[in-house]
Amino acid sequence: MTTTFALQINGQAVPGDAASFAVYNPATGSLLGDAPASSPAQVHAAVAAVRAAQPAWAALPDAERKALISRVAEVLTENSQYLAEWITREQGKPLAGPGSLFEMQACVGWTQVSTMLDLPVEVAFEDDTRRDEVHRKPIGVVAAIAPWNWPLMIAIWQIIPSLRVGNTVVLKPSEYTPLGTLEMVRLINQVLPPGVLNTVSGSGDVGDVLVRHPDVRKVMFTGSGATGRKIIEASAGNMARLTLELGGNDAAIVLPDADPQAIAQGLFWGAFINMGQTCACAKRLYVHESQYEAVIAALKAVAEATPMGDGMHDGILLGPVQNRMQFDKVCALVESARRNGARIVTGGQPKPDSLFFPITLVADVKDGSPLVDEEQFGPVLPIIAYGDVSEAIRNANRLDAALGASVWGSNVQEAQRVAMQLEAGTVWINQHGAVHPMVPFGGIKGSGYGVEFGIEGLKAVTVTQVISIKK
Ligand code: NDP
Repeated sequence: MTTTFALQINGQAVPGDAASFAVYNPATGSLLGDAPASSPAQVHAAVAAVRAAQPAWAALPDAERKALISRVAEVLTENSQYLAEWITREQGKPLAGPGSLFEMQACVGWTQVSTMLDLPVEVAFEDDTRRDEVHRKPIGVVAAIAPWNWPLMIAIWQIIPSLRVGNTVVLKPSEYTPLGTLEMVRLINQVLPPGVLNTVSGSGDVGDVLVRHPDVRKVMFTGSGATGRKIIEASAGNMARLTLELGGNDAAIVLPDADPQAIAQGLFWGAFINMGQTCACAKRLYVHESQYEAVIAALKAVAEATPMGDGMHDGILLGPVQNRMQFDKVCALVESARRNGARIVTGGQPKPDSLFFPITLVADVKDGSPLVDEEQFGPVLPIIAYGDVSEAIRNANRLDAALGASVWGSNVQEAQRVAMQLEAGTVWINQHGAVHPMVPFGGIKGSGYGVEFGIEGLKAVTVTQVISIKK
């Protein structure tokens, strides 16, 4: 196993030129390694290298870029087990279930699908006097700022469409989870031309230097609303275009005709995949009063039957919370609900001296309480009873967060009627968080702007050029 973690700049493995920092396993507390850190000068060097590499990369015939990206998919496939083990050790999600091997499958899938998508020239207008064609061109240098929850998959979501259309990329992983990502980029660099994909590493300050760089033309960002707003401000300087995926506080609405047993597994994983540390998890559950106790009982049964532990071991399906900041946030929200008289149905007490927090279902909570209104991004779900579906829709739409939502019921037409009244970038029916590489995904309101995936996602990493011909 590699123990020296290097950056990739211009096809070379290089050490960080600032003080390295330690990365720990959240399940065991053991030291995993020292991550390189970059000074501002190194960030500038990384941007200069991708800028220099960009014209030749963009000039490659499309078929050649597709072939190279297909090779990236092969490299990811060949190294899936190795990289999945890094994800589990560093991020905490188990190898099994919807865990790190699943994350690697997504990395491969999203990479492959990008080679099946094309952006042909569109004719916007044509008559006897003129023809106006819309061409899609690369933007240039892309800065990718990835979070710690799905570190490799979200990096791939940012990198691959950008490369596919002829941009070059500097990626900064989160300081909580840099190691697996650095390893992935090292492996990918074995098949890409030098300088096409570089990494820098370190704290948020390193990201700040990167997104402000005058040569950065596009920022792909997934993370918090607070950092998203800083990136918007930074973009006033370099006019970088932005795709901002800022998480959400997704409502899931269970209609009176839903079958609690039938939906329990889907609801559970919709809320607790990756221990709830997922942008599009169900984070507020609205259940019709006629089904309230039945849904709670069904979820409780799934929660208590799902094994939690060190995800390197067989049979484990739930891991630790990834970091202390997130863990403390979850503890504080659960405590505030408890103090305000909410019912802790299951869970509620963290394991001492660890980052393990049991799946926690909290009933008899109301809108306006911190656990409902703030994004918990962890293994706790508030369950709110409603009497009339219009009340559930009103409450679901009450918050600024608007990434996803879901509606659960037996009558799909009725569920769709409700779905169309919800303010969210995606509304799933009888599933939650079911993203797909061909389907555009992105938030509205406070959840950010721009979409990823599919043709829309590919367009978002291009600029248009109109060629207007007089006849
Ligand atoms: P951040 O938004 O701070 O981190 C996301 C990424 O942005 C990381 O790579 C981070 O680097 C980087 N970053 C931080 N500051 C800057 C900056 N000024 N300019 C450019 N990049 C920067 O989120 P946190 O990790 O602090 O988590 C806070 C909350 O955000 C969570 O509790 C959760 O609610 C939400 N979140 C949402 C995610 C989503 O999927 N939408 C993912 C992660 C968090 P570094 O980590 O090194 O500081």
